[in-house]
Amino acid sequence: MTKKFLKEIKEKLKKQKELIRVELEKFAQKDHNLKDDWDTRYPRADGGIGGQALEDAADQVEEYVNLLPLEHNLELRLKDINSALEKIKKGRYGKCERCAKKISEERLKVYPEARFCGKCEEK
Ligand SMILES: [Zn+2]
Repeated sequence: MTKKFLKEIKEKLKKQKELIRVELEKFAQKDHNLKDDWDTRYPRADGGIGGQALEDAADQVEEYVNLLPLEHNLELRLKDINSALEKIKKGRYGKCERCAKKISEERLKVYPEARFCGKCEEK
């Protein structure tokens, strides 16, 4: 693995991190006590009591329920990206966490936060 390759990966990871952050900010707020932990904002039903308000509230609850798995996914990706960046820093990037074999550069190019080699990922 060349330095140039690592640099490219690092750039990619940073860009992805930024994209995920922007995505999360649309509907979640950062939990300031925990680094990179996000909470989906629970929608507040505003307005008076009435059919329409209740219906809106129901819609918002549904939206909230739909957003939770998305938030979870983005958070997991963020964690993987952070751990990949950490590995680059420590010079341990590109090794499979399960079998310790090198992860192919082709795989890392499309999936830079990969923690496992292609074989282990399939299992
Ligand atoms: Zn492996």
